[in-house]
Amino acid sequence: RAKQDGRNSFRFFTSLMQAEARRGLQLENSLRRALERDQLSLVYQPQVSLVSGQVIGAEALLRWRHPELGEVSPAEFIPVAESTGLIVPIGEWVMRTAVQQLKAWMAQGMAPLVMSVNLSSVQFRHNDLPGQISRILDEVALPAELLELELTEGVAMRDPQGAIAVMNDLHRRGIRLSIDDFGTGYSSLSYLKKFRVYKLKVDQSFVRDLGDDPEDRAIVSAIISMAHSLGLQTIAEGVETLEQMQFLRSQGCKEVQGYLFSRPLRAEEFPAFVAAGTRVLDEHAELW
Ligand code: C2E
Ligand code: MG
Ligand code: MG
Ligand code: MG
Repeated sequence: RAKQDGRNSFRFFTSLMQAEARRGLQLENSLRRALERDQLSLVYQPQVSLVSGQVIGAEALLRWRHPELGEVSPAEFIPVAESTGLIVPIGEWVMRTAVQQLKAWMAQGMAPLVMSVNLSSVQFRHNDLPGQISRILDEVALPAELLELELTEGVAMRDPQGAIAVMNDLHRRGIRLSIDDFGTGYSSLSYLKKFRVYKLKVDQSFVRDLGDDPEDRAIVSAIISMAHSLGLQTIAEGVETLEQMQFLRSQGCKEVQGYLFSRPLRAEEFPAFVAAGTRVLDEHAELW
């Protein structure tokens, strides 16, 4: 009986694994074609200043609409893109598209803001990333200060010295770096001293329960005060409630993004959102 059950659950797991492997292969094959078939697009999440109440930035987020599978989440396809190396051409497309989009918004009269682009550690290790980015900025004629790169703590895991050299190079070119998902990775705090980082992004997993979890409140307030002592800026992501916003503000966090303000927007929706201003803040002027 036990043996029988064991065999059945073994079959169950192998068929699950086979299904996953099949989907993996299917994603891999179609991802190779996704760029040329025009299935990739970017959406932009507004980043809001808690000092001025204005939209001061946009985070570019990649979307993939697969003809049969529909929308595939970046959490699922970015790892496939990384393991196949496809992240390099895709990442270059993301960079060029995001930078061109900002330029296009400004040409339509939108005030300049900072465009944040996520970078995978695979791209970061790829030869001549700084040169490639500089060429795109030149091509589009956008000042480097308007671009920010989001890296995760993992970029420095394999080769800290190499990562530091790339960061120094980007810094010399005037491109800002922020550490995404801060607090969830494995990096040593001593890296913060050596990294040419401009900003820490407080991970949404710490923000989620700020309302009622004293430990998350302690962690977030420690991250913010450490960042400020080191001369770094902070932004919190995944802000969904007024309560979270108020706590972050009370701790001195100056920027936020999240569904409280807006979901990621299509390019054509973005300038109107900026022009309308942050309604939540207007409606709750007493809170801030
Ligand atoms: P991330 O860079 O940490 O981006 C934040 C994620 O949180 C985004 O998910 C965003 O849509 C979501 N989000 C924003 N506000 C809220 C909120 O208030 N509540 C909740 N629950 N979620 C919120 P998304 O777009 O699915 O992206 C997931 C991850 O995929 C990103 O995490 C990033 O690591 C990666 N990614 C996305 N686009 C790119 C890209 O162009 N290149 C690279 N290398 N990675 C990307
Ligand atoms: Mg990010
Ligand atoms: Mg993040
Ligand atoms: Mg993330």
